[in-house]
Amino acid sequence: MSDTEIIRIATQDAVGLRPEVADILRSEINKRKLSTKLLEGVVAQNTTYELDELTQYAETLRNLPCPNCGLKNDKLNGTVIHTVKSFVIFTTSERRPKVACPTCLDKMNENAISSTALLGWWGIPWGLIKTPIYIYRNLKSKKENKEQQANKTLLAFTAHRIGEIIAANGENEKLLEILKSEKY
Ligand SMILES: [Zn+2]
Repeated sequence: MSDTEIIRIATQDAVGLRPEVADILRSEINKRKLSTKLLEGVVAQNTTYELDELTQYAETLRNLPCPNCGLKNDKLNGTVIHTVKSFVIFTTSERRPKVACPTCLDKMNENAISSTALLGWWGIPWGLIKTPIYIYRNLKSKKENKEQQANKTLLAFTAHRIGEIIAANGENEKLLEILKSEKY
């Protein structure tokens, strides 16, 4: 396995790792002299965090510059972009979590609403059924973009990516990479 694969497993795929596998991973990390923060990443993915701990990590993310516009005017938060696209009998729908500044998040939801309103309907039956639901879900997510605290989408994102966040060890560039990379 390459170092990149080891890092990916340690930071993203270590949930519920059997103890003997975790031991192998640990010895590989040591042998290859990879950052020991990776080990904390493995532990983090198998830890149940209290809400206030997650909120603290989320707060670190909130102080980063916006991964979309690069500005630092507002604290970052999360939203879910819901889109539907149809073509006669094919309908595709997606749900993508995003972390950015509230202004960018609003724009992302608005774009998803316009493109779904334009392209969602043209599928029978799913386009017709899903389009209004997904538009409604964007509106609902959008309401939470300007919350003063880390909203539930950002907290869920933080919990989901906790291994990578801890392995980033407070380095802004690495944390920004996490915000920019999409992984579901
Ligand atoms: Zn922004």
